[in-house]
Amino acid sequence: AATDFDFESYIADIPDYPEPGVVFKDITPLFADANAMRQAITALADHFRGRGVTKVIGPEARGFMVGVPVALELGAGFIPARKPGKLPRETVSISYELEYGTDTLEIHADALEPGDRVLIIDDLVATGGTVAATGKLVQNMGAELIGYGCILELAFLNPRDALAASGDQELFSLV
Ligand code: 5GP
Repeated sequence: AATDFDFESYIADIPDYPEPGVVFKDITPLFADANAMRQAITALADHFRGRGVTKVIGPEARGFMVGVPVALELGAGFIPARKPGKLPRETVSISYELEYGTDTLEIHADALEPGDRVLIIDDLVATGGTVAATGKLVQNMGAELIGYGCILELAFLNPRDALAASGDQELFSLV
């Protein structure tokens, strides 16, 4: 299976970034390697192939890097979810809790139609707050949420608990 590939060896641990005590997972080595990148995109797309996905949504900014090629592989469109004020037309937004404070994501108000089947893709799922909020936005717009996919899931932060609150959609992670 494509998932036998050792994705983890292409992800660098960066201690004390962006602040002391945090170990940042850097996926840029995986994207810098042509074969590793292809393996990751193919494995994510293969997992969700045949489920009628019509749109992939990726949160800014690493969600763009992963989401666009997955959308191409699936024959789906891509929709960016962005920080406030970045999209030029009318938007719908959702705010979600962070450890300290809140964050907001926006997508274009006309980006989804009721019949759309939506896959949410990001590079990394930590607490699950980002993808859970994006999923809620999809559901608020009346589209169908198919699931969530990422390269790396930080299971010790229990993101599946955050996702369970908005439904039983699957989270698929390569690492
Ligand atoms: P969550 O909302 O699940 O707590 O955090 C996930 C979001 O923050 C994703 O959009 C992801 O890109 C970013 N993020 C948080 N920690 C890391 C990390 O260690 N490495 C990378 N590449 N992204 C991170």
